[in-house]
Amino acid sequence: MSSTVEAVVSLVGGAKRIVVFTGAGISAESGIPTFRDPLTGIWARQDPEKLETANAFREDAALVWGWYLWRRAQVAQAVPNAAHQAIAQLTWTRDVTVITQNIDDLHERAGAVDVIHLHGSLEQPKCFACHRTPTAFSFEEPIASEDMRIEPPRCPRCRGKLRPGVVWFGEELPAVAWKKAVLATKNCDVLLSIGTSGVVFPAAEIPTMALRAGAYVVHINPVQVVQPSCRELCLVGRATEIVPALVFLMRPSTGAQVERPVP
Ligand code: NAD
Ligand code: ZN
Repeated sequence: MSSTVEAVVSLVGGAKRIVVFTGAGISAESGIPTFRDPLTGIWARQDPEKLETANAFREDAALVWGWYLWRRAQVAQAVPNAAHQAIAQLTWTRDVTVITQNIDDLHERAGAVDVIHLHGSLEQPKCFACHRTPTAFSFEEPIASEDMRIEPPRCPRCRGKLRPGVVWFGEELPAVAWKKAVLATKNCDVLLSIGTSGVVFPAAEIPTMALRAGAYVVHINPVQVVQPSCRELCLVGRATEIVPALVFLMRPSTGAQVERPVP
């Protein structure tokens, strides 16, 4: 059964520690395709098993590097939407940890602080051979097509090929990010799970972990992703219509204007 924003706020609005857990759906309305939405998803046109594995990179590094450059170009053209902005505002006024499965940087560009990226980032390539992240790296110009083959640049340390700094199928999550995410999840009072299908593990364990630790979990998605159990609530709708309304009602009661903090 789906809830109303007001009902959710009356139950969890006063939460002390909040985790915001996001997936590809939060960036959909910024024009970045999700993986599993029919027709518009990247998977409707590409087979990720062929492009998002270490084996794929071994076999055709230029194809994989070119495809990620195209995805990065898509992200560069996108702007944070009202849901990213509302979450950023929440981080300025409440105890909030943002955990994202996304490899884009729209939370940061909206102003959210200390975002935990479980699946890495398009912005930080690393060496396929020695695994180091080059300190100074600048990308080539954005490219127009996703099937353009482009040779990856070389590692300044060992001359190995640079690969995208994202987590591929079959790879472990970054240990520090996972540890921080688990800690925040086990200590939160409420977890907002926004725009995720909940099928990519171990990231998908995060909402269940919060429930087991006694927190409320609120799912925000145009489709009802779960049959809610005790302490689980569903707000059915798009992120940009629900998240700003929720954050508005959760704002501090002083009525003061929320301003972005000076870094
Ligand atoms: P997913 O594609 O499996 O699921 C997307 C979910 O978003 C679906 O449940 C869908 O109903 C929902 N959704 C669609 N439009 C929405 C909207 N306007 N508001 C709220 N929800 C909406 O994505 P996932 O669960 O994040 O997991 C898949 C993997 O996809 C992750 O590992 C992630 O790294 C990767 N991915 C990331 C990006 C990105 O960085 N923006 C884009 C595509 C895929
Ligand atoms: Zn190297």
